[in-house]
Amino acid sequence: MTMQRHETITKPSTPRDDPNLADYDATRASFDWADVEEEIDFLPGGGLNLAYEAIDRHVVRGNGDKPAMLWEGKNGEKETYTYDDMRRQTNRFANVLGGLGVEKGTRVFTFMERVPEIYFTVFGTLKAGCVIGPLFSAFGPDPVRDRMEDSGAKVLVTQPDLRKKIAEILPQLPDLEHIIVVNKNGRSAEPLAGGDLDYYALMNEASDDFGPIATTRDDYSIMHYTSGTTGKPKGAVHRHNAVIQHYLTGKWCLDLHPDDIYWCTADPGWVTGTSYGMSAPWTNGVTQVIYEGGFSARKWYQVLEDYNVTVWYTAPTAIRMLMKSGVELPKTFDLSNLRFAASVGEPLNPEAVEWGVEAIGMPFHDNWWQTETGGIMIANYACMDIRPGSMGRPLPGINPGIIDADGNEKPDGTEGNLAVRTPWPSMFQTYWQQQERYDSRFVNGWYITGDEAVRDSDGYYWFIGRSDDVINTAGHLVGPFEVESALIEHPAVAEAGVIGKPDPIAMEVVKAFVSLKDGYEPSDELRRELMGFARQKLAAAVAPREIEIIPGLPKTRSGKIMRRLLKARELGLDEGDTSTLEED
Ligand code: ATP
Ligand code: MG
Repeated sequence: MTMQRHETITKPSTPRDDPNLADYDATRASFDWADVEEEIDFLPGGGLNLAYEAIDRHVVRGNGDKPAMLWEGKNGEKETYTYDDMRRQTNRFANVLGGLGVEKGTRVFTFMERVPEIYFTVFGTLKAGCVIGPLFSAFGPDPVRDRMEDSGAKVLVTQPDLRKKIAEILPQLPDLEHIIVVNKNGRSAEPLAGGDLDYYALMNEASDDFGPIATTRDDYSIMHYTSGTTGKPKGAVHRHNAVIQHYLTGKWCLDLHPDDIYWCTADPGWVTGTSYGMSAPWTNGVTQVIYEGGFSARKWYQVLEDYNVTVWYTAPTAIRMLMKSGVELPKTFDLSNLRFAASVGEPLNPEAVEWGVEAIGMPFHDNWWQTETGGIMIANYACMDIRPGSMGRPLPGINPGIIDADGNEKPDGTEGNLAVRTPWPSMFQTYWQQQERYDSRFVNGWYITGDEAVRDSDGYYWFIGRSDDVINTAGHLVGPFEVESALIEHPAVAEAGVIGKPDPIAMEVVKAFVSLKDGYEPSDELRRELMGFARQKLAAAVAPREIEIIPGLPKTRSGKIMRRLLKARELGLDEGDTSTLEED
């Protein structure tokens, strides 16, 4: 196991004036969740509500006029909402639900683009004590039906074009009682379908006073279906208590301060888009940029420049696309306000961490967590040296370990299952209607994450692969991440996905699929060159036996490489659940 192959980047960024960020070890040693609870505001009577914590609290404290959301639409429209605007809009939506007779605990789903109304809907739903389930707008009809059916959602909030896209499946949902349609800025000229409710008509009639908010820390808040990278997506259910961890991780892992301008590129359809696109930034009182449009390297740098973004949270697949468009492009923009950049969602190749230094003047700080953990668990902090390729160290208050199949902890330097001591504030509470599956994820007081990792003697965690993806070749365990990271160091390689291919002698052999950067053409010569390159970077046993150049890798809609599909296709097997597969 080679862990560190790249130079440490010494204290790359200057943490702001938070004493806790000055010394990780000291902060970890003296940490107590009770101190964090002192910093947030429980409701009168001891209740807790994520929406109140993110929005109303700032109004109560006199910051109602501060901009919470700077929104830019895909057609260039611009809208600004203060914390008080957010408070009133979300109160209205909570009253809309009350007016429809929707009861506490009801599942309300959104199928919307990143328009301001999705944020009002999410927080209004939470204020009303209902459970919000955000669905990614790029889904087709079947994934929407599966998730709405599984959750028994009673209310759907959507937009005209999206409603049209899924019209055929709506009659197949017996639990669905109300469809609320947001015709944002009159984008659609068509009248509403019979029976549908007009969002603005309902909101105009609703009072902007709402109360009392009656949730407890244990009430369910958000349910998110996982990304479907390893199989059929599961509905992970969270509770309001998660806000405690959202708040703390926003502060420590993303170094958020009230004067920051923050941009999270994740869609609310995935957990990053709610935990870190809503809860963490707004509980920390920052101004948040929301850009409705999709990926474009030029436009993204423009957003960073136009809004003077200071803290940026994005994902490896986006970073690899930015890398593809070159290191010169970002230099033509003024990114001088940017001071902290972070990444989550997939392993972040060391090459990408270092590219950040060259391209935007700072490394990307990788952090690790999952839909199930609800919040960041392991991170590279502003106060710490970065070891490129490592996920960083645990959040103070979080106790991960590397365990064997029986739940016994393994020593540092040995590979095993990444697990976390239970509980923690944002721990998921169940998989919706799959309690047995939920229970099967725990052993000996540990939650088993399904990822394999190793911890070095300084407490840094290194990702090896998902347990399902780890390759056993001639007695060696090979993590796809290590092989992929070596391959993308070659100038021609944009992305790499590595699988184990059954082999009569070695049990499995390593096979790599790569896609090329613009300006490179596939050829046998290049393939051979890549084989040699990999052999030089990696131990012989680990280097791929086969390399295939393909136009693009199959990915989830949240941008994760689907190695199980590469494998199924290679072996001619059934592709399984492909509801989250991105279409070209
Ligand atoms: P499914 O559970 O449906 O297969 P998924 O695991 O991709 O999908 P998510 O919860 O969105 O669903 O993703 C969490 C997983 O993503 C982690 O378990 C891990 O495998 C991977 N991941 C996230 N962040 C990192 C990171 N910084 N480094 C390595 N892997 C990461
Ligand atoms: Mg998972």
